[in-house]
Amino acid sequence: MARVLIVGAGLTGSLCAALLRSELPQRPLSIALWDKARGAGGRMATSRSPHDPRCTADLGAQYITLRPAYAQKHRSFYEDLLTHGVLKPLTAPVEGMVMEEGSHNFVTPQGISSIVKHYLTESDADVFYDYHVTQIYLRDGKWEVCKKTGSPEQFDIVVLTIPVPQILQLEGDIVNIIKESQKQQLESVSYSSRYALGLFYEAGTWIDVPWAAQYITNNPCIRFISIDNKKRNIESSEVGPSVVVHTSVPFGIAHLEWNKEEVQAIILDHLENIMPGLPKPASIKCQKWRYSQVTKAIPNSPGQMTLHIKPLLVCGGDGFTHSNFDGCIDSAICIVETLKTNL
Ligand SMILES: Cc1cc2nc3c(=O)[nH]c(=O)nc-3n(C[C@H](O)[C@H](O)[C@H](O)COP(=O)(O)OP(=O)(O)OC[C@H]3O[C@@H](n4cnc5c(N)ncnc54)[C@H](O)[C@@H]3O)c2cc1C
Repeated sequence: MARVLIVGAGLTGSLCAALLRSELPQRPLSIALWDKARGAGGRMATSRSPHDPRCTADLGAQYITLRPAYAQKHRSFYEDLLTHGVLKPLTAPVEGMVMEEGSHNFVTPQGISSIVKHYLTESDADVFYDYHVTQIYLRDGKWEVCKKTGSPEQFDIVVLTIPVPQILQLEGDIVNIIKESQKQQLESVSYSSRYALGLFYEAGTWIDVPWAAQYITNNPCIRFISIDNKKRNIESSEVGPSVVVHTSVPFGIAHLEWNKEEVQAIILDHLENIMPGLPKPASIKCQKWRYSQVTKAIPNSPGQMTLHIKPLLVCGGDGFTHSNFDGCIDSAICIVETLKTNL
């Protein structure tokens, strides 16, 4: 049985695993997913309050937008998530949102990471967290993959769905396997950076604003605020509300190497100016997104890049298309097509 390793349990990696399973039902494959984080989601991250795991906040992606250009092409993906209750139409008011005509927005009642979890369940893959890939070697026609802790393991096929700069940080034979022309393309990919704060409140706290989310245009630090449980239409008297704050990209870049506590204090100061009287949260999580959204993808958005054919080593993710749900679907489809033609 061929052993496939997918590195990255974000949207691209989880969907790759699910598509591999559904499109090759007669082919027995052992699929493993490794992620350096403690849970699934990647940039589709949902955080939980340490006081109450039912109080959650989407720190990365906020909602899914179906644009007319993808309405037909990705219809089955949206229908599947709607049928399983993973996606629901966004009905709460979002101030300052610019909508393309014919677009539809969706939220995830269980948090944005529930999309990734849905695909992981469909894939029936073996998922391992706290597995940080550091080196990849070619040994006897197989890939030997090393992680920060624990023994290396061998695989017939490796798929990398981690942000492009993190592909370039991997060590071992992979460094020489990446051709010079590919390296140049990979090095041309760029990402924005920003911070996100998640504020978690106790049950019964009332946040008195007429909107569920708001884009801010006149603040040097804050770009977006969401009353996250209201945005997801899951307000309840038993579970406290949560607030998500995204900084602007210029603020994120200017403070990228700062101490997180200092950055958190600055963001909270600005938040106090925008929302005076906001109650004190029970806990706060500060998340730095060094690789937030792709600002420049691989030229011509190929969806994947084949680094080696026998054995197969492929990379993909939003750096090979664009940074949203549809970009990740396109990449996952391209990766799976490459695997199907080379298996
Ligand atoms: C603040 C923010 C807001 C956004 N808003 C939206 C939105 O509203 N709508 C939308 O559609 N999209 C949005 N996006 C973009 C969207 O989240 C991404 O395009 C998408 O999640 C990328 O998925 P991915 O699987 O390609 O990569 P990732 O989600 O980055 O997954 C890669 C995974 O690889 C793991 N990893 C990295 N290096 C290693 C290693 N060496 N070993 C093991 N594991 C490793 C990481 O832990 C991560 O889990 C937003 C993103 C951010 C950050």
